[in-house]
Amino acid sequence: MDAFEEPIFGEAAPAIFQTSLFAFDTAEAFEQAVREGAPYYTRGKNPTVRAFEAAVARLEGAEDARAFSSGMGAIAAVLFAFLLPGDRVVATAPIYAGTKSLLSGLLQEFGVATTFVPAGDTAAILEAIPGARLVLLESPASYTFELVDLEPVAEAARAAGAVTAIDATYTAGVLAHPLAHGIDLVIHSASKYFSGHSDVVAGVVAGPKALIERLKEPYMLLGAKLAPFEAWLLVRGLRTLELRLARHRANAEAAARFLKAHPRVRRVFDATDHPLAEKYLTGGASMLSLELESEAAARRFVNRLRLFKVGVSWGGFESLALPLALQPRIARAYRFPPGMVRLHLGLEPTEAILADLEQALAES
Ligand SMILES: *Cc1c(COP(=O)(O)O)cnc(C)c1O
Repeated sequence: MDAFEEPIFGEAAPAIFQTSLFAFDTAEAFEQAVREGAPYYTRGKNPTVRAFEAAVARLEGAEDARAFSSGMGAIAAVLFAFLLPGDRVVATAPIYAGTKSLLSGLLQEFGVATTFVPAGDTAAILEAIPGARLVLLESPASYTFELVDLEPVAEAARAAGAVTAIDATYTAGVLAHPLAHGIDLVIHSASKYFSGHSDVVAGVVAGPKALIERLKEPYMLLGAKLAPFEAWLLVRGLRTLELRLARHRANAEAAARFLKAHPRVRRVFDATDHPLAEKYLTGGASMLSLELESEAAARRFVNRLRLFKVGVSWGGFESLALPLALQPRIARAYRFPPGMVRLHLGLEPTEAILADLEQALAES
C-alpha cells in the first residue's frame, strides 16, 4: 500500500487532505506524478481516502481496498466491474433493499439476470452457481440474519469461474473474515459500524490487488468516490471499532435474553443462534429482529419506546427500531411476518435499554 498513513509532523490525529487537486510547478513534474501513481486529482487518488482504504484492507486481511461515497456505490461498482449484458448473478435472499432493487431493476434493464436463492439453503446456492458470472452474498442476511455457508459456495464458484463477493457490513471486518474462507471480494457499507457515529455515508470493497484493479474504471468513471472529509471521519471511527462492537454485543446479548423470555415476543432473529455461527462468527454485534403478534402491535411497541427512535440504517451510538412493515416492498417480497421489528442496540447503558424494552412491551 502507499505510505499515506505516515505522519508528516508526528501528528497524533491524521492530517486531512481536503483538496480536489494537486498542482505542480512544471509539465514534467505533473508527468512524473502520473507515472508514479502520486495523487493529482481526488476522484482518482486522495491520501486521506487512501489511508481509510489501507485501514480496511488491513482489517480484512486483503491486499487492497477501494472506498466509495456509499455502500450502494461500492456494490454498484462491483456489479459494473464484473458483469456484461447476458451475464447472470446468483444473489442470496434476503438481501439489502437497495441491492435487491439494483439487481431486479437497473441491472436487469442492462441485460443482467439474477437468480435469488435463500441465504441459508446451501444446496440451492450451489445448484444455481454453474453458468453464473458473479455470486453476491450477504451474511448475516439483512433483516433475518441467516448465515451463508461460505466455504462450499466459494469452492463451487471457483470451479464455475464465477467471482464471489460478500456484503459483510454486519460483521464489520472484526466478527468474520470472509476472505479467509475463500471469498474473492468483501464489501462494506461504511455508513454503519466503520463510521459508528451516524455521521457518514460511505462504502468500501476489499480483496486481492488483481480484482481491486478491475474496479478502477467504475471507481474513476462512475464518480461514486469517497470524499476526504468522510474518509477522515472513518479513519477516526475505525480506531474505536472493536471497543464499540464489544459494547454493542453486550447490549444485544442482554436484549436478546430479555426478548426471548418475554411472553409477547413470538420469535427473535439473531445471527449468533444460527448453526453456522460457530464456524463463521467470532461473536454477534448490534442487530436483532423480533416478531410481535401483528403490525399494530409492532407500531404500538416502537411508538412506546423512548430511548429507541424509529429509523433506517444503524451502527451508531443511538438505539433504533424499525417495524419492517414500514418498508412494504421488502416486507412483501420476503413475506416477513407483519409484526416484525428490526432493532439496532446502541451504546447506551444496558439497564436503560432493558428498561425501555420492558416498559414498551408491558400490556397497557
Ligand atoms: C446500509 C447497507 C447497505 C447500503 O449502504 P449505504 O451506505 O446506505 O449506501 C448495503 N448493505 C447493507 C447490508 C447495509 O446494511
